[in-house]
Amino acid sequence: MAKLTGLKALEILDSRGNPTVEVTAYSEKISAKASVPSGASKGKYEAVELRDGGKRYGGLGVLKAVDNVEKIIKPKLIGRSLAKQELIDDILIKLDGTVNKSKLGANAILGVSIACFKLNAKTKGVEPYELLGRKLMPTPYYNIINGGLHGGCNTSFQEFMVVPKAKTFKEALRVGVEIYHALKEMLLSNYGKRAISVGDEGGFAPPIKKATEALDLIMKAIYGSGNDALVAIDAAASTFYKDGNYFVDGKKLNKEKLMDYYEKLTQDYPITSIEDPLHEDDWEGFAELRKRIKNVDIVGDDLIVTNPFRLRQAIENKACDAIILKPNQIGTLTETLKVAELAMNNSIKVIVSHRSGETCDDFIADLAVGLGCGLIKTGAPCRGERVCKYNRLLRIERMLS
Ligand code: PGA
Ligand code: ZN
Repeated sequence: MAKLTGLKALEILDSRGNPTVEVTAYSEKISAKASVPSGASKGKYEAVELRDGGKRYGGLGVLKAVDNVEKIIKPKLIGRSLAKQELIDDILIKLDGTVNKSKLGANAILGVSIACFKLNAKTKGVEPYELLGRKLMPTPYYNIINGGLHGGCNTSFQEFMVVPKAKTFKEALRVGVEIYHALKEMLLSNYGKRAISVGDEGGFAPPIKKATEALDLIMKAIYGSGNDALVAIDAAASTFYKDGNYFVDGKKLNKEKLMDYYEKLTQDYPITSIEDPLHEDDWEGFAELRKRIKNVDIVGDDLIVTNPFRLRQAIENKACDAIILKPNQIGTLTETLKVAELAMNNSIKVIVSHRSGETCDDFIADLAVGLGCGLIKTGAPCRGERVCKYNRLLRIERMLS
């Protein structure tokens, strides 16, 4: 059985030009790398991303996390069997000893956890998805208009996505790309060149101010491209919630009014899901919205933060139809997998997801396929750090056929 013989960490950059952690794990001459993404609209219950503070990189350096990998984690893991992922992750969790991984940093811990997992696959001569057990290609959610904290357009909602109706992933990718380019042409002719610059997740950030403008543009792009697709929204409502009210596209709405607004949107557009429609502590609101809007998935991202305790609370409260699964919200692969299983065992859908600050690590493609959850969101079909996940899915689909 292959053993871990070396562990190195490096401060690299993410797609926003901010430092992040890359870990390389070694088993003799074989090595595997993992790098950790970072969110902008983070949930307040997420595991802690350890940052250095001070002047360097505006306080965002990760040299402490790098040091933690090489000086604290490495001595405890060297010689361990790579086949024992649960044990490796358990050692990491205990070594940190905090509830939110604030001592060693979830960025340090997750880098090690995933690098070890990939190395185990490599030493066995199998693909990472094969080690996870299932083999199902996911339906992609393409975030093609970036608002909120992710882009320069002035909508309060953060993401406007298209979800192609297609039989294969290859086909879904083509449909997504054709819609994306139809939208680009429309934005260019309606608003001029500045409207086609892209936001953090590769979607456009046109000079629009309202969610309905974004949805109208997307509907026209879908029809214009001659394809069939549904739409999805990530409101990321915690980012526009303050003191009991929601500030949406220039209007102050109370919770009731915001729910009315969502209901109207689902009547006017073919919306398949709404993520974080309300702020991250409103369990009752989520449950109420689920009852009011049938046939639309109410999705918990900041609400659940890939955390088993919050997921259990969601199950008890019947608060969501689906969850977003982001490994760096919880900090180890084992915990991520357990949250996914708990959700699926309770008929809650799982959408594997990237972060707005990404690297070219394509592991989440394998995670989505190997979990068999059937859904992934990893941005627009544009920007290297988004496209690498979609390209990995193309390769996996070919291996599976
Ligand atoms: P984040 O956004 O990575 O900035 O948190 C992604 C999301 O909210 O789904
Ligand atoms: Zn989200």
